[in-house]
Amino acid sequence: SRDIKVALVTGGNRGIGYELVKLLALKGFKVILASRDPEKGHKAIQQLRKSNLDVSFVSIDVDNRESIRQASATVNERYGRLDVLINNAGVYLDENRKLVAMDPSILEKTMATNFFGVYHVIRSFIPLMEKQGYGRIINVSSEYGAMSEMSHQGVGAYKLSKLALNALTQLLAAENHGDIKINAADPGWVSSDMGGPSAPRTPKQAAESILWLATIGPEGPNGGFFRDEKRIEW
Ligand code: NDP
Repeated sequence: SRDIKVALVTGGNRGIGYELVKLLALKGFKVILASRDPEKGHKAIQQLRKSNLDVSFVSIDVDNRESIRQASATVNERYGRLDVLINNAGVYLDENRKLVAMDPSILEKTMATNFFGVYHVIRSFIPLMEKQGYGRIINVSSEYGAMSEMSHQGVGAYKLSKLALNALTQLLAAENHGDIKINAADPGWVSSDMGGPSAPRTPKQAAESILWLATIGPEGPNGGFFRDEKRIEW
């Protein structure tokens, strides 16, 4: 049916991404779980099918442009559309060193995944949205992606990657792609593999706090940065 909307989540096999996939499926989206590891992706899908959720798989390593290109071709063939894109895949590689003291490969790798990965995914998938003149893009950012918050030490690579991601979000929005809205969201501190066990939020709560951005109307925000539905300064 023309009314069924298609959503894709990168890094959908675990953590916040997995819960985003689940909630989108519960809301009635046709959801594509993207994962760089097909085995992990299919395991996650089996788990979701136990709850009667119909989710499909596509392989995306956001560090690999060819895998992104193939995935967008697959989504185009399979559905011919994409309504919601959530750039969730991310890494946290800092080892408590200053930017000038860290192994530069940590910075390069972090930027490759958290920044260039998002750029290339958007670049490959936005034509599917432009074709239908509609799309909602959510970039999963972090409170670290704020210049106003400089208390974090030893996390320079991650911080720079999320600052750049927030800037990319704002610049893309300002380019005005019709009714395609692109916003960034901070999920809070979340008890995933990345956030560790003492984090106060569950991945499910984090996913719930972000997902409103997937269904905003034409008057909704564009180029903003949000936590719990409130715009935050960065
Ligand atoms: P996890 O470490 O639990 O999960 C990260 C996900 O990203 C995994 O699915 C992982 O895949 C995937 N991933 C990493 N690199 C790539 C890549 N190159 N290509 C494709 N997928 C990749 O993290 P969270 O769920 O906690 O984090 C999700 C997002 O939320 C991230 O962007 C993170 O920066 C952000 N965030 C998290 C916070 C927290 O407290 N947890 C706080 C603020 C923001 P694989 O399983 O194959 O490794």
